[in-house]
Amino acid sequence: MTQRASSNRKTIKDILAGQNLISPVDMAKAEAESAKTKKPLQQAVVDLGFVDKLSVLQALAAEWEVQPVLFDDVQVDSRVAKLISDAMARKLGVLPFLREDGIVLVAMADPRDPLVLEDLRAKTGEEVRPFLAMPEDIEKELDRIYGTALDHDDGGGGDEIHDAVERKTQEMLGDILENADDIEGIEAKTDLMEVDASAPEVERIVNAIILAALQSKASDIHIEPFEDPAGKKNRLIVRFRVDGFLKEAPFRIPWSYRNAVIAKIKILTASMNLTERRIPQSGRIEVMAKGRPIEFRVETIPTVYGESASLRLLDRKSVQVDIHKLGFLDDILEKLLEQLKGIGGKKNYGMILVTGPTGSGKTTTLYACLNHVNRPDIRIITAENPVEYNIDGIVQVAVNPDITLAKDRVFNFATALRSFLRLDPDVIMVGEVRDKETATIAMEAAMTGHLVLSTIHTNDAASTVSRLAEMGPPAYLVASTLKCVLAQRLCRMICPDCKGPVTLSADEREIFRLNGFELTEETTIYKGAGCKACSNTGLKGRLGIHELLIMDETVRRVALSDLTADSIRNAAIYHSPQRMRTMVQDGLIKVLQGLTTINEVLGVSTEKTS
Ligand SMILES: [Zn+2]
Repeated sequence: MTQRASSNRKTIKDILAGQNLISPVDMAKAEAESAKTKKPLQQAVVDLGFVDKLSVLQALAAEWEVQPVLFDDVQVDSRVAKLISDAMARKLGVLPFLREDGIVLVAMADPRDPLVLEDLRAKTGEEVRPFLAMPEDIEKELDRIYGTALDHDDGGGGDEIHDAVERKTQEMLGDILENADDIEGIEAKTDLMEVDASAPEVERIVNAIILAALQSKASDIHIEPFEDPAGKKNRLIVRFRVDGFLKEAPFRIPWSYRNAVIAKIKILTASMNLTERRIPQSGRIEVMAKGRPIEFRVETIPTVYGESASLRLLDRKSVQVDIHKLGFLDDILEKLLEQLKGIGGKKNYGMILVTGPTGSGKTTTLYACLNHVNRPDIRIITAENPVEYNIDGIVQVAVNPDITLAKDRVFNFATALRSFLRLDPDVIMVGEVRDKETATIAMEAAMTGHLVLSTIHTNDAASTVSRLAEMGPPAYLVASTLKCVLAQRLCRMICPDCKGPVTLSADEREIFRLNGFELTEETTIYKGAGCKACSNTGLKGRLGIHELLIMDETVRRVALSDLTADSIRNAAIYHSPQRMRTMVQDGLIKVLQGLTTINEVLGVSTEKTS
């Protein structure tokens, strides 16, 4: 790749100013921001809203003679991304994102340094072609590929564990740290013979890594071999992700332990293939800390320097999801709570389904329902894959279809449900209804005096009824067991820091009119102008929009003879006394309340499940 010496001398400031993209005053502000936050100047210019991202990319790309890339349009191939380590990618501000005709395409925040390209060629052993991307876009993609931090605001309980492990970690770390001075000595002694995974100190090292991670409240642990070309500084790097940022562990692991440590982690999962080091594998580890199980999801991937392992903490801390805080409109909440009344003693039974695409908050709503009905005299049991949160007083069972119970029988939702019935619970929660077997058993359970809660993948409430019937159970069973269906989506909320009233356009008025709203001239809606708090999007936080279909007598009668979604929807909206509101109507009410925008509501409500 030839570099034009002249263009290399132009600074980013020169390039942007030279194209008249930004005023000198704004440029000065951006420079100050860049100096303060340490973010590259081009990112500061975009973040402050002075120039749009595409214009900045185009200006710089033209000058540096590379093509710009936006990850909105390009799907990153994570296998290609993992040709280099997370650490190296972040350090260099690069992301290998695709392989095309045998050439690795690499997004770079700054492609001016030819040495970086040489480095990438050497590390990947492949021909590379640079593309220009925004620094933050590269970071975001790396976060997506390698994982970001879990939410660590603790609802109590978590601190206890951390305190408990702290002393232990110090003891173990102390041991390793004491030996750290002598680390070269250890290397010399052990270099020639591979340390075996069964060596006692290997277990201690792995425990120390896990405990140190818990102590620093890390969400992820990355253990990566890094080979120094000169052979002098070969290292097994341990890094923790804390609050979204990666930091190196305060201790070093001798290089000769690299295979043993990874092997020990694989052994702990009890499911990974120890001898297979050429393909990515995944598994789970459960450890106990102060009597509570802590679970990690483990991924191993082959890198050019050997196998690396990433552990993601699945922090199953107790949750207190409050059904009153999920953004339900008052009347919807009242109807939903009515459906959850009178549990126990077989007085309330039937099936309640929550539907929506992945990421629409279905599970959170189910947990909120369980929390609401959770009382000592009510027996609740769940089948989940995986168990994401612990709720006190509830029997939670993790199903795992990979476990074979007996000949041809696997431990899936259906088998879990069947075994639950013998335990005679009042409430059963099943992670998901997605096949005939689960649907049938869930409905049988609902018929025989249990309240069954579950999720299902459909686009709206009415089509859930027909989807259930398509799965196989007879119409009468669907009509008689289903109590209600809640469809939901999550909209982004207007940023409170930059929220202001805007007048409705004619098109927007029409949207309201088509959905049955009568607006006056005085009707106001709101938008976020964009500010620092919301990264100039005008949106911050999320809010549920809902559609609650109650299977009352009217809807039931229709369902018995006609299970098409349209007929059921019509019955619920126009004929039933409940007068069901659609998700869009629910969202538009929230627009009028100044909580979200029309675009958000229309955007998410047309989102289809796969
Ligand atoms: Zn804002």
